[in-house]
Amino acid sequence: MTKLESVKCGVCGSDDRTPYAEGKDYEYGTSDDTFHIDRCNICGNLYLNPRPVREELSCIYPPNYYAYNYDSSINPIALKAKEFLDRRKAKNWLKYVTADLEKLNFLDVGCGNGRYLQMLHRLGVPKSQLYGIEMSEGAITSLQNEGYNGYYGRLEDVENQLPENTFDLIVLLQVIEHVEFPKQTVQTLSRLLRSGGILVLETPNTQSWDANLFRLGYWGGYHFPRHWNLFDRPTLNRLVTAAYLQVKDIQFLPSPAFWILSYHHAIADKWQNQKLANWFDPLQNLPLLSFFTAIDLVRAKLGFSTSNIQFVAVKSPTL
Ligand SMILES: [Zn+2]
Repeated sequence: MTKLESVKCGVCGSDDRTPYAEGKDYEYGTSDDTFHIDRCNICGNLYLNPRPVREELSCIYPPNYYAYNYDSSINPIALKAKEFLDRRKAKNWLKYVTADLEKLNFLDVGCGNGRYLQMLHRLGVPKSQLYGIEMSEGAITSLQNEGYNGYYGRLEDVENQLPENTFDLIVLLQVIEHVEFPKQTVQTLSRLLRSGGILVLETPNTQSWDANLFRLGYWGGYHFPRHWNLFDRPTLNRLVTAAYLQVKDIQFLPSPAFWILSYHHAIADKWQNQKLANWFDPLQNLPLLSFFTAIDLVRAKLGFSTSNIQFVAVKSPTL
């Protein structure tokens, strides 16, 4: 049994809520508990409640967690495709930034092995201006050894060591859904941005086709019990503007993994067919990855929303 605690809405602090979804850790099986997601009746935020206490973090993020072993656990062809898309994504961020690359100050919150720091360095940003925060001590030590500014811990543990009003570009990719208090997180980042600086925030979107199809519990984006707060376009918009940031652009990116995981969970749990479910592997099944990427790309092109939403916001120059 995982030790759990009841919580209030992580955005507005209210206790006024309605049950929304429930499910298990279908991906890693770190717990036998059934977890619940509530919808806040005041601000619309979706949040896991009750949720694991902090001491359980090392249990719910096991050593084989994909983000810790990404490069070795993903199919090599899929990895190459991902690297290509990541490079395109990083170049796209730079379109919003006014600073020259030699002067750019960049922070990646949840930087993993530092692939975006390395990418921006290759594009011309000096290592001394590239900052990364990550919960993995090993990853941070190697980044520091390479000459980057690496910080080990959560944002709230290290924020006082970071320079305020400094960053031209901060990215928070697939992180906000894991934190306890998303509102504080975005406000902290707003403080670290210089006036006119850009925040890129990417997170699962609960108002997409697959999220609605699998809404009651099998949707891959729930990621029980690791996603603690989940958003859609209106709730994210409120979160960002409450931190004195102006939304500049919203994009929907392909999210094939959530499609594949949703089918995996439904087949494994509802049909009890683990053998068939294993075929729905978001890191290995290239035909499915290509198929759902194509579906999402077409949908995004036609103006529909996908399960991965990207907000680009600017810190108002007057603040
Ligand atoms: Zn709320």
